Amino acid sequence: EQEPNLPPLRANPLRLRQMLDNLIGNAIKYTPTGGQIHIKLRSEDGQLILQVSDNGPGIPPADQPRIFDKFYRGENVPDDVPGSGLGLAIVKSIVDSHQGRIWVESALGQGSTFFVVLPAFVPPVS
Ligand code: ADP
Repeated sequence: EQEPNLPPLRANPLRLRQMLDNLIGNAIKYTPTGGQIHIKLRSEDGQLILQVSDNGPGIPPADQPRIFDKFYRGENVPDDVPGSGLGLAIVKSIVDSHQGRIWVESALGQGSTFFVVLPAFVPPVS
């Protein structure tokens, strides 16, 4: 879903692409066949809000503060799911470099939603 009239961003397009690839790639990688992934973009209070949701395994509460750390992989990740634990650390560095915020809301067995909030571009007054 995407609202019309989203505000402009001042951003590095390659890095935003990399951010989306990682978040959507994770949703696809961790959600079993037949699951659902939703991607939503909206604006609120001069900010752009991205939500990437899935109805996969979810992230244990104790892992949630650590998944943005380099090389950290969740305790409930099955052995046959490949990964380096770097993807979300990269995503966080991209979000930080755009003065944004990122967090996850997740319940075990129900799914995960990653939120990214980026400030809209405000043209300078001349
Ligand atoms: P990787 O996927 O290589 O393990 P990431 O840095 O992308 O590394 O993710 C860190 C951890 O966050 C993963 O190991 C997993 O535990 C958890 N995670 C990330 N995205 C999801 C998701 N959509 N559903 C469930 N767990 C996730």
